[in-house]
Amino acid sequence: TVSVVLFTADLRLHDQPALRAALDGSSAVVPLFVRDRAVQAAGFAAPNRLAFLADCLRDLDAGLRERGGRLVVRHGDVVQEVCSVVTEAAADEVHMAADVSAYAHGREDRLRSALRAQGCRLHVHDTVTTVIAPGIVTPASSDHFAIFTPYFRRWSEQRLRDVLPAPRRVRVPDGVGSLPVPTRPDLSGVSPGLPTGGETQARERLAAWLREDVAAYADRHDDLPGDATSRLSPHLHFGTLSPVELVHRARRAGGPGAEAFVRQLAWRDFHRQVLAARPEAAAGDYRTRHDRWRTEAEAHDDIAAWKEGRTGYPVVDAAMRQLRHEGWMHNRGRLLTASFLAKTLYVDWRVGARHFLDLLVDGDLANNQLNWQWVAGTGTDTRPHRVLNPIAQAKRYDPDGTYVRRWVPELAGLDGPAVHQPWKLRGAERALYDAYPDPVVDLAEGLARFRRARGRD
Ligand code: FAD
Repeated sequence: TVSVVLFTADLRLHDQPALRAALDGSSAVVPLFVRDRAVQAAGFAAPNRLAFLADCLRDLDAGLRERGGRLVVRHGDVVQEVCSVVTEAAADEVHMAADVSAYAHGREDRLRSALRAQGCRLHVHDTVTTVIAPGIVTPASSDHFAIFTPYFRRWSEQRLRDVLPAPRRVRVPDGVGSLPVPTRPDLSGVSPGLPTGGETQARERLAAWLREDVAAYADRHDDLPGDATSRLSPHLHFGTLSPVELVHRARRAGGPGAEAFVRQLAWRDFHRQVLAARPEAAAGDYRTRHDRWRTEAEAHDDIAAWKEGRTGYPVVDAAMRQLRHEGWMHNRGRLLTASFLAKTLYVDWRVGARHFLDLLVDGDLANNQLNWQWVAGTGTDTRPHRVLNPIAQAKRYDPDGTYVRRWVPELAGLDGPAVHQPWKLRGAERALYDAYPDPVVDLAEGLARFRRARGRD
């Protein structure tokens, strides 16, 4: 038997159920990645993710070559490309990972019927991109959980599959054409501080994280200047790490830090089971609140200030600038910048979600759209009307102002927490910092507008 493994969001060799199944039943395997034209056309191929993806593909190819194989890369319509590779390799089976978006479901259906017409079978594997597959734990009355806590309880009770070792050898049949494996494109718009992708980097980062940092995670994950989270999100997005392996290894490490970390991994599965059941929630409100958001035309200047990190609220601006510089933002920053746009400025969450997807190296349909909705109060938050006050958030999570000074150099001369409220400075002192803008909105007015709009005073 000859099998094709279609790699999508699972660009790794360790703990890779689709690859394992293909190798177990076959004399030869074609490891295939298709640069999918539809994904590019949908605007999802943002420069930061394209650059990171190139790293991942090169590393995957190197790993396969060490084992006697290679990565086959194609470009075009994913179904057509898989079908041509099946013909070129005279393959009998195709293996791939299950995924949750409407696009992924459509791709799977199209592939299954096209392959059937060629007499080839498609095998779709669960627990490659999630720990627990969507639909495995459900409440009595619905096809998915809409509240995290009961979901997490049930999720935690599930038995995990074992971790699979990386293959020793991969034999690829001759005669299958490939494009060169891409190198990091020289694209404008790639963030200067973008991390490096690939399974090798991912595994090194994971080992260091478990060895040195996870123990303090429960206490420090919200500490903005401490930057004490794992930064594994891009690796999870591209699947250079297996979420199942992560949970096994974190549980083995043990302690409150590892427990808190596993809980965050469950949030990732939670959003994926919501999106799998409600694919339309990627673009439309999961819960209708009858919002009449300010449009892009009405809020044009506010939106521009938010995107560029010059709202006049230093902690918001610091986080927005971190996003542009690194293609990544701390979760606390994501929460408070999203609340600021959707609630304080009362702008449609989709405007913010789009901007995040344009820049985030971990930009992920399930995590991004559903976290945005969580913050905007159209999602699964059980307290949809809460509004985060950026000054209170700054004082709590950046008490000394170190994070702000790191990202907002115009204010670097201001010591201590005074950096969070430069508008309080008077006269000559304020003049020293006049490169930094005044606030675009009065917080009390923003709050009142949001409450009026949501019909609550
Ligand atoms: P850690 O704190 O080390 O957490 C470990 C892993 O758990 C993360 O890598 C991630 O996979 C998962 N995780 C943590 N928090 C969440 C969460 N709230 N929801 C789902 N999974 C979580 N995450 C993305 O991966 N892609 C996105 O596009 C994305 N967009 C977001 C947009 C908004 C408005 C908000 C509030 C959050 C968003 N998140 C997104 C979730 C979270 O902010 C990031 O996963 C996290 O900051 C990544 O950093 P880390 O790997 O150091 O996280």
